[in-house]
Amino acid sequence: MKRLVRRAARSGRIAAKLAWSILHRHHPLMVHLIPIRRCNLACAYCNEYDATSQPVPLAALRRRVDLLAGLGTALVTLSGGEPLLHPEIDRVVAHVRRRGMIATLITNGYLLSPDRIEDLNRAGLDHLQISIDNVEPDAVSMKSLRLLDPKLQWLKERALFAVNVNSVVGGGIRNPRDALAVTLRARELGFSSSVGIIHDGLGQLQPLEPAALGVYEELQRLRPFNVNRIDRLWQDNLAKGRPNDWRCRAGARYLYVDESGSVHYCSQYRTGTGIPLERYGRDDIRREYHVSKPCAPFCTINCAQQASLLDGWRAPQRPPLADPPLRAPGALADEVLADEGKP
Ligand code: SF4
Ligand code: SF4
Repeated sequence: MKRLVRRAARSGRIAAKLAWSILHRHHPLMVHLIPIRRCNLACAYCNEYDATSQPVPLAALRRRVDLLAGLGTALVTLSGGEPLLHPEIDRVVAHVRRRGMIATLITNGYLLSPDRIEDLNRAGLDHLQISIDNVEPDAVSMKSLRLLDPKLQWLKERALFAVNVNSVVGGGIRNPRDALAVTLRARELGFSSSVGIIHDGLGQLQPLEPAALGVYEELQRLRPFNVNRIDRLWQDNLAKGRPNDWRCRAGARYLYVDESGSVHYCSQYRTGTGIPLERYGRDDIRREYHVSKPCAPFCTINCAQQASLLDGWRAPQRPPLADPPLRAPGALADEVLADEGKP
């Protein structure tokens, strides 16, 4: 019963945010906020973690949440690194909710426990995504169904928030059919499921091998027809190695706020320093809303694509100026790769 009440209230808040976002376009729909860059795992394909950094202090995160609320943000996703390594993550979630925004979290699931799930329930978490890459752990990824299944069962028994299980296909995954096993288990437990296509170090497509493409198509057939399939055509094109014609609104509808509090386009398009969130304002949002991104045709960043969909029909974009504030054209690839220094 409690779960049904929470679901109804959540749906109402999401519908209200969506309606407001259609009417007013110059505010962020979705922000990824990084509370800690460190991760307890080291997936071979990942360039978004380190092994040493400390949690961002709670006061700084609360201040960032306040600034995002001031920009009119609809939804804040806490990711990382591994956000559950932050000892006060539930208090960050509670602050997001206190400021009237939808609170979501992306985790590898290793640190979930019954107590932690209850903490997130009390904090008012709206949605949690857990990523599972294979059935048995291997050198590429330890995010395996066998090790994480007990966590899924705890979520099934206790979570008052929505749970989505994300599987991946593409570069480095040894057995593409593992994604099917993960999706079927998610459905058996009553969770929603999604599939991601692994990207390179710049968020760009790595075309799928025939076996992986076959699994991808099977997975898409399993997904029910609902709002989550709005991105279907976009993903289908990428799976087949074809470009997409879309307007990326990163920097406007979607923001990535790193652990130092700087705003970037997305996790894969981080130039050296970005712009401090304290200085990020309506003018920046308006500018980036109207600027096209040269990396868009083969981009695999699903969150940015979903946040941009609402405005796909309006406000054509123009090419960036020679030296726009968020990017360093030409130097981009070298700069991002040097920045990362990741495996
Ligand atoms: S993919 Fe996730 S779990 Fe794996 S190293 Fe990156 S942040 Fe950690
Ligand atoms: S198209 Fe947008 S989301 Fe994709 S890599 Fe470029 S800036 Fe990032």
